[in-house]
Amino acid sequence: MSYRSVVLIASLLVAAIFAAVGALSLKQLDDQLDLQFEQEAVRLESVYRAALGELEQQAISLAFGLASDAELRRLTAQGTQARQAGDLQVAEAAHTQLLRKMQSQWIELYRHNDLRQLQVLTTPDLRSLLRMHAPDDQGDSLMELRPLLRAVQADRIPRSGFEIGRAYAGVRGAVPVTHPDAEGNPLHVGTLEVGIGMSDLIDRLSHRLDIGIAVLLRAEAVTDAMWESYRPNSAPSKRNQCCYLLTATGPQAAEWLEAGELKPTAGKQATPLLEWKGRTYHLIRFGFHDYLGSLDSNRPPIGSVVIWKDVTHLLLAHENERWELIRTALSGLAFVLALVLILSKLSRREWRRQLETQTEALQKLSRHNKLLLETAGDGIYGVDRNGHATFINRSALQMLGYRADEVVGHDQHQLFHHSHRDGSPYPNALCPVQQTLADGKRRVCEDWFIRDTGEHFPVSMTVAPINEHDHREGAVVVFRDITDYRRRQDELIRLATTDPLTGAGNRRHFLSALESELARLRRNGHPASLLMADLDHFKNVNDRYGHAAGDAVLKHFVAIARNTLRQTDLIGRLGGEEFAMLLPGDDIKGATETAERLRGALENSAAEFGTLRISVTVSIGITELQHTDENTDAPLQRADEALYAAKTGGRNRVSTPLPRLDDKAAATPGQR
Ligand code: GH3
Ligand code: MG
Ligand code: MG
Repeated sequence: MSYRSVVLIASLLVAAIFAAVGALSLKQLDDQLDLQFEQEAVRLESVYRAALGELEQQAISLAFGLASDAELRRLTAQGTQARQAGDLQVAEAAHTQLLRKMQSQWIELYRHNDLRQLQVLTTPDLRSLLRMHAPDDQGDSLMELRPLLRAVQADRIPRSGFEIGRAYAGVRGAVPVTHPDAEGNPLHVGTLEVGIGMSDLIDRLSHRLDIGIAVLLRAEAVTDAMWESYRPNSAPSKRNQCCYLLTATGPQAAEWLEAGELKPTAGKQATPLLEWKGRTYHLIRFGFHDYLGSLDSNRPPIGSVVIWKDVTHLLLAHENERWELIRTALSGLAFVLALVLILSKLSRREWRRQLETQTEALQKLSRHNKLLLETAGDGIYGVDRNGHATFINRSALQMLGYRADEVVGHDQHQLFHHSHRDGSPYPNALCPVQQTLADGKRRVCEDWFIRDTGEHFPVSMTVAPINEHDHREGAVVVFRDITDYRRRQDELIRLATTDPLTGAGNRRHFLSALESELARLRRNGHPASLLMADLDHFKNVNDRYGHAAGDAVLKHFVAIARNTLRQTDLIGRLGGEEFAMLLPGDDIKGATETAERLRGALENSAAEFGTLRISVTVSIGITELQHTDENTDAPLQRADEALYAAKTGGRNRVSTPLPRLDDKAAATPGQR
């Protein structure tokens, strides 16, 4: 993967993380706001309901207070009894007296206690006897219309609740009115009901909580119950299909109704936020039940309460908070991206630096290796696991006579190792390189390579396997041409084993060869004979012609001996003019013949020294090697004895050892 893609992926990853965290934080912020709205809605609804509950209690208390007045009770009893008796005049009189009696109290309560309704009804048919809020209307029965009154009439237990009546819709408290009968027992003579306005309540709440409140009534609930002239002012219009506005703390509710912003549903708004005249309001809307609805929750709400709060500033602050969050996230992202870039740049630079250092070191090493390879005096080449050359240095090419491209890629064995010196094929399996490739062992050996001219040359070679991760990858061969070395070695051997004057083997070399022959005899019984030759009167040659002439005679003798003897026979100079000859494969008979030929050849050829021709003779003693000979001394002594015999016998002759007393075989006497 390229550096650019790594940085790109890292940046995208960081951006994705930031986007995810940012989105999550934004959602959390929004959720917080929603939760705040929800909690606020629950809180305000509870506060409102608690306040309404208090208002209902207040209505009952007020009704109690008024119904405990003795005069009111008396007049109510009078009105009720007159109605029951059909005495309308008396009933009217009771109505008039009640109206007069309650007038001042009504005004006082209207002004200070927000009393909006006060009525007294006769038993048992709940006919209106007094209606302070609609003083001219009386005599109608509310039996059908007012369940709350019906309930109080039935069991005489005070009750409160919201109800829509003929002339008043609101919170009411109703209590039974009693009057003692002739025996002093309390007689149920009527029902007193008060209704308290909600304006004070909602104004108070509005101030305390900095909210707006409106109470809406379902359109049918109003039109079904209320006399038209008592209905609330804000009637449902074409655009406003919703409801009557019973009361509100500000003009907004009426405007919203008019504009159709408030739907008929009493439940929660689809969206709790409403944009209105450049402000944003949080709307909380919940339904409320009338008295019957409070007993049976299956009944539909009679209306709804709308509470609103101006949240323009809150939303602005929220929006600012969102932007602040986005700004923070973006600057954080920019910072982290910059950090990623800087760090990756730095690490890339460091990585490059290290790479350059390592590459440089590697290149240096490679140059050194190449130089070593090229300047090495030894031939060096590598092969792959199939024995094909992979590289070869200059020295190797010089020795083999090939160009690099003629070797690299070719089978080294087929190219310059395919046959032995004698031309017989060299099997591939026996090639040391192949063997090392097969068994992984290092080999040091001497062998022969073949030049491009077809000429063989001796090499000393080391074959080392190349193993990588436990696999044999090939081998390296280091070799050198040992032709000169071999030559020097041969020369040294020659110097160490030959007599410098005559070229015959020296005494030590001869004795060692004799010992080997004895060993061979003991091993396989092959016969061999030993000749001991001494030039006759050689001292005289020296004396007569000089030492150099003597030397020439010595060389001449060796030359004659070489011509006479076989290739496999060995001539050694034991000292002075005394020579020994080892004749492997010859028994005493064959050896005697050879010795005789040698003696004759010398006798018939003169050594040349300058203009001089010098003739010499030789005496030769012979013995056959015996398997009982424990060392070289025994045959040497026998040959010496035979030589002595030849000398004493007159010289220029061949002699075999004299037969000994314990010898079974008789010795053949020497011949002239
Ligand atoms: P005989 O027949 O009994 O063997 O008599 P001879 O004279 O050959 O024997 P002798 O041992 O008396 O003499 C050997 C001589 O060989 C003595 C010595 O000077 C000579 N001589 C030994 N080594 C060399 C050599 O390397 N070169 C020459 N020119 N003479 C040598
Ligand atoms: Mg001698
Ligand atoms: Mg001699």
